[in-house]
Formats: sequence, C-alpha cells, structure tokens
Amino acid sequence: MARIHCSVSNCHYWKNGNICDASEIMVTSDSVGNTMPDSFDAPKASTAPETPVNSCMETCCKTFVASNSQAVQADRVYRK
Ligand code: SF4
Repeated sequence: MARIHCSVSNCHYWKNGNICDASEIMVTSDSVGNTMPDSFDAPKASTAPETPVNSCMETCCKTFVASNSQAVQADRVYRK
C-alpha cells in the first residue's frame, strides 16, 4: 500500500512521523462514516457503494479508531 501520511495522532494506527501504520484503510463519505458500524471498513470496501462528494470536507477515514478503544478489533484491520 502507498505510504499514507496522517496527523490524527490519537488513532490506534498512527505512528511517529505522521505515518498511518494500518494494513489498509478506507476513505469514504462522511455520511457512510456516520451511519455504518465499526465492522464496516477496508476489508469490505470492494462491495461498498460509490459515494461521490463535493469537497474534502465531506470525506473521512472510516478506519480511524481511538488508540484506547475497545473497537480496535472490530474490522479485521491490523497494524503492519
Ligand atoms: S487509520 Fe486513518 S485516521 Fe488512523 S492513522 Fe490511518 S489514515 Fe490516520
């Protein structure tokens, strides 16, 4: 996977240097991020509906999970 730069330092997958250390991520629309459960993430992305948006302000990283969250294992994404 291409290197993903990310400054969201309280994410479980963040590491020093503002690097995302997740095995894969899913970027999607805010509407999907707001409505789909934690289990809906990158491993299911190939079957997700297309979600066009008008600007970066309408997108989110669905893979984000707080570093101290019990939902870390909900989606089959792992630290590399
Ligand atoms: S999973 Fe998303 S929010 Fe978390 S470090 Fe990676 S890109 Fe950033």
